[in-house]
Amino acid sequence: MSTTTPPPSEVSLRRGDVVRLWPEGLDGLIGVLRDMGYDVKGPTVRDGAIVPGRLDGAHDLPVGWRDEQSPGRYAVHWANDELAFSWAVGPGSWKAEFFPAAQVQWHAERHGDTYRFNESVESLRPLAIVGARPCELAALDVLDRVLRDGALPDPRYVARRDGAFVVVVECARPASTCFCSSMGAGPGIEGGFDLALTELSDADGHRYLVRIGSERGALAIARVDHEQGLDVDRAARVIQLDASVVGMTRQLETDGLAELLVRNQENPRWLDVAERCLSCANCTLVCPTCFCSDVHDTTDVTGAVTRNRTWSSCFDLDHSFLHGGPVRASSSSRYRQWMTHKLSTWWDQFDTSGCVGCGRCITWCPVGIDITDEAKAIGRSDRALAVGRSR
Ligand code: SF4
Ligand code: SF4
Repeated sequence: MSTTTPPPSEVSLRRGDVVRLWPEGLDGLIGVLRDMGYDVKGPTVRDGAIVPGRLDGAHDLPVGWRDEQSPGRYAVHWANDELAFSWAVGPGSWKAEFFPAAQVQWHAERHGDTYRFNESVESLRPLAIVGARPCELAALDVLDRVLRDGALPDPRYVARRDGAFVVVVECARPASTCFCSSMGAGPGIEGGFDLALTELSDADGHRYLVRIGSERGALAIARVDHEQGLDVDRAARVIQLDASVVGMTRQLETDGLAELLVRNQENPRWLDVAERCLSCANCTLVCPTCFCSDVHDTTDVTGAVTRNRTWSSCFDLDHSFLHGGPVRASSSSRYRQWMTHKLSTWWDQFDTSGCVGCGRCITWCPVGIDITDEAKAIGRSDRALAVGRSR
C-alpha cells in the first residue's frame, strides 16, 4: 500500500473527477479511511454468507467468492480468482448499522421521589462503508425519508447516517433474484455516494474505475496511488452495466402497480399466498427498507427503567394488536399489508416505492414466495375479474 498525504491545498481532485485504481489502491483507500478516523466496514464472508463486517484491509473483502441465489436458496462458493465484488447482496443489509435490530432508547433511574432520564445518543466513530451496492444506497434513501426527514426524526439514525462515508460498488453479477433495474435502483448509480467504484477485469487488467462524488471523497482518493481515468475504462463500465441489465432475469412491471394493488384488496390471490406463507417474517427482517419497530420497557428492583426498541414485522400478530385482538389476524391480510404497503401506499406516505428490487425477500423466504410473481399473479387475476365483470 502506498499513501501520500498532501495538504488540502495540493489536492487537485474534485467532485466529478474520474480516476483509475489498481487493486492495491483499494487496500490503500481502506487504510486512508481508517487514518481519517472512520470505522471501516464492508462485505465479508461469514457463516457461509456475504454479510457486513469490519474491514482492516482489502483482504477482508470477499475476494474470489461467488454467490448463487434463487427463491428460498442461497449459497456461496470459492471461485479462486481476483474479483472482490462478483456477487449480489446477502442477508445482512446496511440498515442494521443505522437502525439496529435492538437499541436502548432511554434509561431512567430513581433518585428519591424523582426520576432522572438519560436519552443520550451513543457516540460512535463515524462509519465508512466500502462496497455498498446501488440498491442498498437506494434503500438508505428510502429509510432517510422515514427516519431522518420525516415528522419524527430518529436522533440515533440521523447522527450515524449524516457522518457516514459511502463507497458504492456497481453490480456486474446480479443474482437471479435481483430486479433493481425495474425499480430504477441499480445496477449502476449516478449520485448519493462519496466514491463509486466499478470493478473491471479484461485485457487491460484487474482495476477499478472510480467516480468521485464529494469533496471528502476527493480528499481520500488524493491520498491513494491512482491514475487518471481513461476512456477505455469508461467504455468498459458501460458495456458491463448493459450486460448486468440484460442478465437480470427478474422484472417487476411498476406502471399502474400501486393502483392495481389498492383495487385488489379482496383478490382471491391473497388466499393462495396465505396457503404457502409461514408468517415467519424473514422477508421483513432481510428487507433493507422495512422499518417497523416495537418498544418495550424493562424495570429492576431499584425502580430503574430502560426503554428498548426492537425490529418488528407486519407478519407478527402483535404488530396489529388493538384492544380485543389483532386487526390482521389472517396470513392473507398480513401478506397483503406487507406487499401493498411496499409497492403502493408507500408512495402516498413517502413519495417513493418501498421496494428497491434487491431480491432478498425472494431468496430468504423459506418457501420461495416471490414478490414479482405475486404482483404478476394479482395483475392476471385483475384482468380476468375485469373480463368476468364485463360479460
Ligand atoms: S421488498 Fe424484497 S426486493 Fe424489495 S427491497 Fe425489500 S427485500 Fe428487497
Ligand atoms: S412471505 Fe416468506 S419470508 Fe415472508 S413471512 Fe411469508 S413465508 Fe416468511
